[in-house]
Amino acid sequence: MNMEQPKIPQATAKRLPLYYRFIQNLHASGKKRVSSAELSEAVKVDSATIRRDFSYFGALGKKGYGYNVEYLLSFFRRTLSQDELTKVALFGVGNLGTAFLHYNNFTKNNSAKIMMAFDIDPNKIGKEVGGVPIYHLDDVAQKLTSDVTIAILTVPATRAQELVDKLVDIGIQGILNFTPARLTVPEHIRVHHIDLAIELQSLIYFMKNYPE
Ligand code: ATP
Repeated sequence: MNMEQPKIPQATAKRLPLYYRFIQNLHASGKKRVSSAELSEAVKVDSATIRRDFSYFGALGKKGYGYNVEYLLSFFRRTLSQDELTKVALFGVGNLGTAFLHYNNFTKNNSAKIMMAFDIDPNKIGKEVGGVPIYHLDDVAQKLTSDVTIAILTVPATRAQELVDKLVDIGIQGILNFTPARLTVPEHIRVHHIDLAIELQSLIYFMKNYPE
């Protein structure tokens, strides 16, 4: 967390990458300033929320002028650690894991990258997918260097908790969990959960029950 800035509420923090993407595009197209109304229209967040969020960023929008794009860009880069490389390891090179290894271009400026992958299938060990080497899980303590701070989990759900216990022991700090397993971790470990099945079911429910 950036020491000069007041702590940003979590709901606001979740919108940071969304704002950042849009500000990057504006900057690339040469725009110098942007109004909360323009931002609101582009990122589909109401302008009152935008104004409140941006007050945490130290960005003071002036009436009839808007926000300074250059300032916002530099704030987002700093706050989202875009000037440093965050190294990621992927666990489970199945269908989903393989897709991620081929993609591996999550941020425009490559500030987060999957450096290595682990599996237990002997047919996959020693190969590369999308230029990323695949190691055996048994070698994780040796291969996973301390600069790799994030694990992406694409293993079967039944294997997720035991794997996570191991990763926590080794010193991983953040987990992006694509398995349906609900994980138990110590407080200092951050887990973000992306469950495609739940999202799809929820979308279907909302389409049926809130059609307007
Ligand atoms: P997906 O679920 O991504 O579609 P899949 O159906 O091909 O993948 P799964 O059974 O879900 O296969 O397993 C995903 C991958 O995780 C496989 O390559 C499997 O060998 C690997 N795997 C299974 N257990 C572990 C483990 N404990 N650690 C690392 N990898 C594992």
